[in-house]
Amino acid sequence: MEIIAHVQSPFSEKFGIPRQPSLVSAGEFAIEFEAEFSDPAFVKDIEQHSHLWLLFLFHENLDKGYKASVRPPRLGGNKKTGVFATRSSFRPNGIGMSAVKLLSVDISGDKIRLIIESADLLNGTPIVDIKPYIPYSDRIESATSQMAQAAPEQSLAISWSTKSVNQVAQLNSKYPDLSLLIEQVLAQDPRPAYKKNKSDDKIYAISLYDLDIKWRVDNDVCLVISVEKIT
Ligand code: SAM
Repeated sequence: MEIIAHVQSPFSEKFGIPRQPSLVSAGEFAIEFEAEFSDPAFVKDIEQHSHLWLLFLFHENLDKGYKASVRPPRLGGNKKTGVFATRSSFRPNGIGMSAVKLLSVDISGDKIRLIIESADLLNGTPIVDIKPYIPYSDRIESATSQMAQAAPEQSLAISWSTKSVNQVAQLNSKYPDLSLLIEQVLAQDPRPAYKKNKSDDKIYAISLYDLDIKWRVDNDVCLVISVEKIT
C-alpha cells in the first residue's frame, strides 16, 4: 500500500485530539499529496462532493500492538469491549476512517492540497486513500449505536486567565480562531476518562501547532493558564 498524502493539522501530539472530526470546527486542516499523486488529474471533479472519506494509518500506534479487548472512553474507560466494536486507534491493521468536509482544492505550483474543515488526526498522519462520501449509501437514517448514538457531552466550561487572554490576543493574527480551537478541544475534557467530572490539582498541557497550552480543571471549569510558543 502506498502513502498518497499527509494530513496537516493543529494537533502536534495525540493528547487532546478529538475522538471524531465533527467535534471541532476551528483551526486549519489540509491534506497535502505526495509528489507522485500531485497531478490535478487525481482530484479532477472532487469538488463535486461536499464530504470525503479519509482512510489513514494510525501511524503513531503501529508499533504499539493491539489487544482483542479495549476500554473505550465512551464507556467511562473501565468497561472492556471488542476492538472491532470500537473506533480504537490500536487495531490489528492500524487503519482509521474519518468523514471530513471539503472546503476547497488548492493547486499551487506542483503542490496540491485539499483544504478540509476539521479532522481528528495528528499532524503528519499518512493517508492511504480518499473517497467521496456518498449520501444515499453512507448516511443510514435507521442506524443505531448503543455506545455512541450522539456526540459526547462537552463536559467542561472554559475560563481564561488574564495572562492567557493577552497571549492569545498577540498570537491571533498568525493562528486564526485560536481561542475557539482551544475552547473546542478543552471542552471535550481530554483527561483520562476516570477523571471526568472530578477536580484535580494537576496542571495539564496540550500542543496545538507550535504552541504549548497549560490548563487545569476545578469544578468542571477548565482554566486556561497560559498559551506559549514552544521554543
Ligand atoms: N475517525 C477515525 C475512525 O473512526 O477510525 C479515528 C477515530 S480515533 C478514536 C481518533 C483518535 O485517534 C484521536 O483522538 C487520536 O487520539 C488518535 N489519532 C489520531 N491520529 C493518529 C495517528 N496518526 N496515530 C495514532 N493515533 C492517532
